[in-house]
Amino acid sequence: MLHLPTLIAVSIVMNILLGILMLVIFRLRQQQRCFVYWSVACFVFAAAAITASLRAFIDAPLLTVYCADLLIILAPLLAIAGLREYLHYTRSFVYLRALWACCAILLAPLHTQPLLAQLVTSIVLAGAFGYATLLLVRVPTRSPLPKLVLALLFGAHALIMIIQSSILFTSFREGPMPSFAPLLEWILVNHLLLTTATAMVFPLLVFVSNENRLTQLANYDDLTKLFNRRAFYQQAEDYFAASELDEQDFSALMLDLDHFKGINDQYGHAAGDACLRWVARQIRSQLREQDVAARVGGEEFAIALPQTDERAAIAIADRLLEAIGGEPFEYQSQPIHLTVSIGVIHRKSRHEALQALLIDADTALYTAKKQGRNQVVLAS
Ligand code: GH3
Ligand code: MG
Ligand code: MG
Repeated sequence: MLHLPTLIAVSIVMNILLGILMLVIFRLRQQQRCFVYWSVACFVFAAAAITASLRAFIDAPLLTVYCADLLIILAPLLAIAGLREYLHYTRSFVYLRALWACCAILLAPLHTQPLLAQLVTSIVLAGAFGYATLLLVRVPTRSPLPKLVLALLFGAHALIMIIQSSILFTSFREGPMPSFAPLLEWILVNHLLLTTATAMVFPLLVFVSNENRLTQLANYDDLTKLFNRRAFYQQAEDYFAASELDEQDFSALMLDLDHFKGINDQYGHAAGDACLRWVARQIRSQLREQDVAARVGGEEFAIALPQTDERAAIAIADRLLEAIGGEPFEYQSQPIHLTVSIGVIHRKSRHEALQALLIDADTALYTAKKQGRNQVVLAS
């Protein structure tokens, strides 16, 4: 069995260290104020554990019961404030402040009745942890796994606080029950462990979502959400190399919208942007999972087709021609007629690098333009 005083001491030290770590992170990343809230929450929790532990040594209920309970409640409220800051909630923290003020008033006369004070504190904590769980479950974030772990930790914390509230309520009504003592100690142990674990997951939540955001920025084109040129080469090179090793087919398409400058001139740049997004959707809808599509220039797209022979590549290009040029794109109730020229290449023995393959696809695209646009040309 865990030695409770040691566990309390360890969790105090851990929370102080985590609080310092999060302050350091904040200093390094000034714009993320959530770390300040989480850091202060850790310090407040450590202070709560110290003041509550003093009950064993001094008889000062105003400090060891009243202040301790208020600090115990303040810690998750600060954690929630940090979460709201991280999720960019615009509303102020007025409700959290009001809740804490109500607790301060409600608990003031109860410092001479520790059991009742603990009951009120447990109920407020159960509510706070339950709210934090809902907050995490409801909002989409870029870091699903840390979010899920945090939601589980908060959910488990809410559950044990509900159990503690029921035990304290029963003890309050029917007098102290020694048989509940081991269960209450188990709850305290879990409270300490869950609080410390939660504090450790907060930075993870932010780092994973920052990492995902940076990957998104580095690899994807902002307008169309297709890969950008850099990511296209990275992915397509891998498929190209694999196809060479396995002696598999490999094809590529180069697409360029026809007279797109005229579309911008006639309908405006915003309409042009909407056209590019629509074309990207048409491209995505025609491709398979393993195909790699990218916007490699203003109105130019490249598509790598692993395990695709010449006939299949031409068929895909024809489908794209039809999908883009067959029906007009409707922008703000006006139809915009778009067409596209496509160069198709199937890998031959002379193509030792992806670059050489794409140059040939580009030449075929140029031929398609010269021959009148709105057509597919297979590279010779
Ligand atoms: P062609 O059939 O020969 O390809 O003619 P084009 O007008 O499509 O080709 P050109 O290279 O002369 O012009 C490309 C146009 O694409 C010019 C530019 O205004 C437009 N364009 C490039 N990037 C964007 C973008 O991000 N948004 C919008 N709206 N237009 C763009
Ligand atoms: Mg063009
Ligand atoms: Mg062009």
